[in-house]
Amino acid sequence: MIWQIKRLFERVGDRQEIDCAIPLEELREARGCESIVTPISIKGRIINRGGMVSLDYTSAFTVRHLCDRCLDEFDRDYSLQFEHILTREESPDDGDDVYYCPGCALDLNELAVSDLLVELPTKVLCRSDCRGLCPKCGRNLNLGDCGCTEE
Ligand SMILES: [Zn+2]
Ligand SMILES: [Zn+2]
Repeated sequence: MIWQIKRLFERVGDRQEIDCAIPLEELREARGCESIVTPISIKGRIINRGGMVSLDYTSAFTVRHLCDRCLDEFDRDYSLQFEHILTREESPDDGDDVYYCPGCALDLNELAVSDLLVELPTKVLCRSDCRGLCPKCGRNLNLGDCGCTEE
């Protein structure tokens, strides 16, 4: 969703609450989002404080992971917080937290997707004490011992 935030840039003290979601159909088309199995809920606010416009929001969604040790599929819920300074004038001095909004338009979906892709872990375990697979017979040891003798 594109937010027109010209008013927010121009009025000191102005604020805009955000409560929206990125639908699954859109996530199917975003690279890197294939494992997200729920819409992404986005809640937050944009505030103009003394002429500086900032966005902070929480992004909530569920990811279907493959355990790195036992290869089992499992779902994990995420709730991640992000903060950005919004600017309508691009500058080479801008830091990573600064997001440029050409024509005062904020592409919140694009920003939210790029934010969460940075945070998503690439290697995950279904639980911290996952016992993994037996190196001999390949059985998932979380389901019980396989009877192979340890060397
Ligand atoms: Zn596991
Ligand atoms: Zn075994």
